[in-house]
Amino acid sequence: QVFVGNHMDNIFQLQLQSQGFPFQAVAITLDILQATSSRLSSIEILSDLFLAILLKYPQDLLPAVYLCTNRVAAPWEAVELGVGGSLISKAIMEVTSVSKETLRSLYKQYGDLGDVAQICCSRLQRLFKPNYLTAQHVYQSLRKIAQTNGVKSVSRKKNLIQSLLVASRSPEARYIVRILSQHIRVGAVEKTVIAALGRAFIILDAIRSNGEEITSRAQVQKYSIERKTETKLLVERMNRAFSECSDWERIITFLVNDTHSWNQLNEFCKLQPGTPLKPQLGKITKSVDEMIKDLGTDSDISCEWKYDGQRCQVHIIENGVVQLFSRHLEDMTSKYPDVVSSFADISGVTSAILDAEIVAVNPSHSQMYLPFQYLSTRARKDVQLNQITVQVRVIVFDLMFLNGVCLIEQSFRQRRQLLERHFRVRSVTLPETLISSQVNEVEAWLNRAISNGCEGLMCKALDGPNSVYYPSKRSEGWSKIKKDYVEGISDTMDLVPIAAWWGNGRKAGWLSPFLLACYYDGEFQSVCKVMSGFSDEEYKSLTEFYLRDKTLPIKPPYYQVDESLRPAIWLQACQVYVLSYEKKLNLTIP
Ligand code: ATP
Repeated sequence: QVFVGNHMDNIFQLQLQSQGFPFQAVAITLDILQATSSRLSSIEILSDLFLAILLKYPQDLLPAVYLCTNRVAAPWEAVELGVGGSLISKAIMEVTSVSKETLRSLYKQYGDLGDVAQICCSRLQRLFKPNYLTAQHVYQSLRKIAQTNGVKSVSRKKNLIQSLLVASRSPEARYIVRILSQHIRVGAVEKTVIAALGRAFIILDAIRSNGEEITSRAQVQKYSIERKTETKLLVERMNRAFSECSDWERIITFLVNDTHSWNQLNEFCKLQPGTPLKPQLGKITKSVDEMIKDLGTDSDISCEWKYDGQRCQVHIIENGVVQLFSRHLEDMTSKYPDVVSSFADISGVTSAILDAEIVAVNPSHSQMYLPFQYLSTRARKDVQLNQITVQVRVIVFDLMFLNGVCLIEQSFRQRRQLLERHFRVRSVTLPETLISSQVNEVEAWLNRAISNGCEGLMCKALDGPNSVYYPSKRSEGWSKIKKDYVEGISDTMDLVPIAAWWGNGRKAGWLSPFLLACYYDGEFQSVCKVMSGFSDEEYKSLTEFYLRDKTLPIKPPYYQVDESLRPAIWLQACQVYVLSYEKKLNLTIP
């Protein structure tokens, strides 16, 4: 199989020398992707990689997809690499004998530990040529790193990292380190990966059904154009499958093994209790007027209080087991045993998937909601029922699955009726709701929500095409109105930069982020970091401005800074930034 003068050609040359799909081909692809800004080109580049894998090593497709999306497992599997920058730096120094000072100065120059690892490893003198790393081996090693715990786990993790770095060929070290630090910096977002996979599977199918050998990339291009319609259809199916069941393993295994029944993908990968779906999101609205114009023309509007807590997907599984998932699909069942017990035994419900918000409440007055900051002090896992200090209430606002039936294509009015019928029970709460499209009424309701400690309103279409549940979408059927967005009633904050860190990547060599503080009672108290909002020119001139003569050798006693923060540099308090939701960030230099 010979490809002509392109990326695929390289991949095939590499494959000839490796036992299994070479990780180097994945790393080269990621390098090319990093330099590509067009989404269509990114899809083709990634798709060529997936096609090459499918032709010879289809079992390596899943590891490659995980590596390209900067993951080693599904989010709910709780597989955490648990590797920090200092452990990676140690591994690099020991493998390459580079000094701490050199590593530091390279980091300051490049702002990315992956680039630093690549430079150090490419200078490595080896006595013998190591075997090619395969995608499968790198993936399994990363999983092993994640599963390493207990005695001497830090040094065992370091050994595993080192054995990967020692065997790396350019540019593998860059991506081994970037994946370890969970910051891959290429835009292989899920949508791009799905489009690339769809194209690869359809081209593979065309090649196979014509009984052809691939001898040129022109063939691939020809099929890509000829099979556009089939590709579009498969990509649509995959997008739907992925938003209802975000499980790469299930989707890829089906597509690899059941090549003749792709039209059944959505039957096989559909909503089911136990596998979380991507939650629907709402779009921002600046006024009640605007919201009513958007939602209310062919539907009644359900205006619900927007509670300031944590999004939670509640799954009641057939055998009575309850599982909870976060907005990012992580399993948080052990964080909320109290919420789990609220759903333990609801009569008439054998299985269900609900959308909900968990809110902290005042322990002596359970009708009073507390802000998210309070909820965030609860331990992240293994909370015991008898040791709970932060009391919560669960507000269920949608129902996507009930007793074996998927409800996402039903209207919100129908889902809400079922929600009311089955979940108006003592242990759970439904949101405070007003059904109205009258500006005055909704404005009064918004004020009431805010004065009860809520963020604003979530307004939802009850009927019509926008009222179905759209997994993973910022849907037209949900509008959020928050105090901060509503013209005229938003607050601004006057904050002063008092410290900063050195930037990474594009921002290497500039100060970013800045630590902002508010001036209160003779002290500057840290409030937040400002991570974005400046142009490159502004970063440059702010860095020059402070470095000229406005840095401080140590933290002054009147700077009160959260202990977990360790800024790289202290700054004189001499600028005021006005932060607002509406206008993003204004800079005033007094
Ligand atoms: P924000 O940071 O402004 O809360 P977000 O990016 O988390 O927004 P949005 O789609 O903008 O998500 O707002 C929806 C969020 O509001 C949901 O994720 C959920 O956590 C929360 N929420 C609170 N009450 C409700 C409700 N009644 N209906 C829907 N979502 C609600």
